[in-house]
Amino acid sequence: MTTALLTHADSLGHVMPPGHPERVARIEHVLHALEPLDLWRVTAPMAAEDDLLRIHPQSYIDMLRDAVPAEGFAQLDADTFLSPGSLDAAWRGAGAAVRAVDLVAGGEARNAFCAMRPPGHHAETETPMGFCLFGNAALAARHALDHHGMGRVAVVDFDVHHGNGTQDLLWDERRALFVSSHQMPLWPGTGARDETGAYDNVMNVPLAPGTDGARMRTLYEAEVFPRLRAFAPELIVVSAGFDAHADDPLANLDWQEEDFVWLTRELCALADEMCGGRLVSVLEGGYDLTALAACTRAHVTELKEAAR
Ligand SMILES: [Zn+2]
Repeated sequence: MTTALLTHADSLGHVMPPGHPERVARIEHVLHALEPLDLWRVTAPMAAEDDLLRIHPQSYIDMLRDAVPAEGFAQLDADTFLSPGSLDAAWRGAGAAVRAVDLVAGGEARNAFCAMRPPGHHAETETPMGFCLFGNAALAARHALDHHGMGRVAVVDFDVHHGNGTQDLLWDERRALFVSSHQMPLWPGTGARDETGAYDNVMNVPLAPGTDGARMRTLYEAEVFPRLRAFAPELIVVSAGFDAHADDPLANLDWQEEDFVWLTRELCALADEMCGGRLVSVLEGGYDLTALAACTRAHVTELKEAAR
């Protein structure tokens, strides 16, 4: 068994205004860092419109299509922009998540990593937000539930920002458990412990600024892992953001590369225990290019190790 790496050059066609942190160089650094790992590279397909309709209404998809500029940039909110290539990139990002689930559910790969941008976990049902256009992690979960007949899927989001979009998209999905750890206070401001979903299917673990890896490990061991075991998912989807790293310019947590290694290893062990190893990880944030590249390589190295 193997680890699949899903990517596509269209990720480079999503261009942001100068100085924007969610920049093309992120994916260039990630792919360069993953090169030595000799992964099974899979071309990310475009998502089918029916796939996207599992999580977003037609009116939202049409709104984005209409908003794409012929040149330059279109601004959707304070920090979310479209360039001429943005929709193709987002469409491929969603397609990567769907295809990754197909490969893992079908037994062609044990686990998979989607190296795509823009990220997705802030995109709500009808609202693009925080650099995100389509809810890729939620789509992966819904696709596994609806298309592959799985009964329970967990999404674990360790990006430093709350996965408000995934939470919104899975809020009333009783077959999904959404777990997010994130710095609080921090943008987008949601993710309090009392946000628990329509069926007690959402678990938020807010972390105070400065939270280090030791504290993170304690919280995951005490709260997150038991909750995942009790839920007993058939697939684990990971929203892998690396902006909880101490060097990240957008947040104030104090995780190191070894903490992402530990967390990935533990999640893979849980996937082994409960899901036959099935785990799909999608890239979210991470804005210090050096830390992003190193942590992504460490994360995917653990996936590869788990797939042997
Ligand atoms: Zn983030």
